[in-house]
Amino acid sequence: MKGYFGEFGGAFVPELLVPPLQEVEKAMNDILPTRQFQDELADLLNTFAGRPTPVTFCPTLSRELGSNLWLKREDLLHTGAHKINNTLGQALLAKKMGKTRLIAETGAGQHGVATAAAAARLGLECVIYMGANDVERQAPNVQRMRLLGATVHPVPTGTATLKDAINETLREWLSSQQTTHYCFGTAAGPHPFPTLVRIFQSVIGAEIKQQLKKLPDAIVACVGGGSNAIGMFHPFLEDKDVRIIGVEAAGTGKPGCYHSAAINLGTPGVLHGSRSLLLQTEDGQILPSHSISAGLDYPAVGPEHAFLARTGRVEYHMANDAQALAAFHKLCATEGILPALESSHALAWVLENRDAFSPGATVVVNLSGRGDKDMDIINAAIAASNKMESENAQA
Ligand SMILES: *Cc1c(COP(=O)(O)O)cnc(C)c1O
Repeated sequence: MKGYFGEFGGAFVPELLVPPLQEVEKAMNDILPTRQFQDELADLLNTFAGRPTPVTFCPTLSRELGSNLWLKREDLLHTGAHKINNTLGQALLAKKMGKTRLIAETGAGQHGVATAAAAARLGLECVIYMGANDVERQAPNVQRMRLLGATVHPVPTGTATLKDAINETLREWLSSQQTTHYCFGTAAGPHPFPTLVRIFQSVIGAEIKQQLKKLPDAIVACVGGGSNAIGMFHPFLEDKDVRIIGVEAAGTGKPGCYHSAAINLGTPGVLHGSRSLLLQTEDGQILPSHSISAGLDYPAVGPEHAFLARTGRVEYHMANDAQALAAFHKLCATEGILPALESSHALAWVLENRDAFSPGATVVVNLSGRGDKDMDIINAAIAASNKMESENAQA
C-alpha cells in the first residue's frame, strides 16, 4: 500500500491536510527526479552545503578496537549536521511547487537553523515553531534562526517541546497550505515525508559506497526520528553482507528512567500522522522522552525503521547518556574531532561492543553532526562528575 512500510507508515491526518500532502507527493514523483532539479540540488549541496563530505579513517581508535573504524563526516556540513541535506532539498522542491514560504518545527533548534539557512538562500519566507521550553534552553540557535531571517514562534502548549511544535506546525499548515510548504525535519510524520526525507538524506550512504574501495562490514548510525540513519542505511539494504546497526538513546539507562528508545522499548501506535513504534501508556498517551542529546529526544521513530526492525534487516541497539559522553571524550582526545552528542551514541555502541566485529572488520559510523552546540551540556556533565569525585574524596 502507498506510503506504507509493512504495517507502519500511512497518513493519519485531518481531511484538510490530505490535499497539501498529495501536492508534495506529486512533486516528489514528478519534479524531484528531473534532470534539472537534480542538477540544481547537486549544485547547492556542493557549493553551499559542502558536499561531498569525506570519510575519515580513525587510526588510534582502530588500533584500540582491532577493527578499521571510519567516520562519515556530516559534521563538516554547513550549519553543522546532516539536516541541511533535507532542508535544501525540500526548500528547492517547495520553490518549484510555487510556494513562497516554509514552516517547520524544531526541538533543539538544529532543524530550525538548517531550514532558515535554506529559506534565506532560496528567497523563501520562513517561520519556525519551537516549544517554549526549548526556546529557553536553546537560545543560541533561536538567535541563529532570527539572524537568518526566520520568525520563531514559541509553542506554550503540552510539554512545550518538540512534539508540541510539530502539532502546532501541522495546525498552521491547515490554513496556509496555498502559499506554504511544511519542511518536515526527520524521516517520520505522514506520507510522503518519511520517503521524501529519506531520498534527500540517501546522499550519505550513496557517497560512502563510492568513497570506500569495497563494501564495509558494518555501518552504524544514531536514531532519533531516523533521518541520518535511514539516509546512511538505505543504499546498503540490498547488500546482504553489510551489517546495519541503528543506535537509540537509552537515557540514563537506570530502570524506569525516561529515554528515547521507541524501537527497543516502544509499542505500535499513531503519532504525528504516522503509524510506528512509540513511547506511550497502555491507553495511548504519549510518554515524556529523554536523552542527553536533544536531537534524539523524540517519543517516536520513522515508520521505515519500525519496519526494518520487524524484518530484522537492521539491528537496533541502545547507548545511554554516560556511554555517549564517554565516546564523545574519547573521539575528541584520540582523533581530534568533537562529535555531536547524538552521533556519540552511535560511536558509543561500537566502543562498548568491540567483540561484535571480527578482527580487521571495516566499520563506518555516521558522524551526523558536530559537537560545538553541546558545550553547555558537556560542561555541566564535567562539573557534576567533578563534584561527585570531590564529595567521594571527602567521605
Ligand atoms: C537532529 C539530529 C539527529 C537526530 O535526527 P535523525 O532524524 O534521527 O537523524 C542526529 N544527529 C544530529 C547531529 C542532529 O542534529
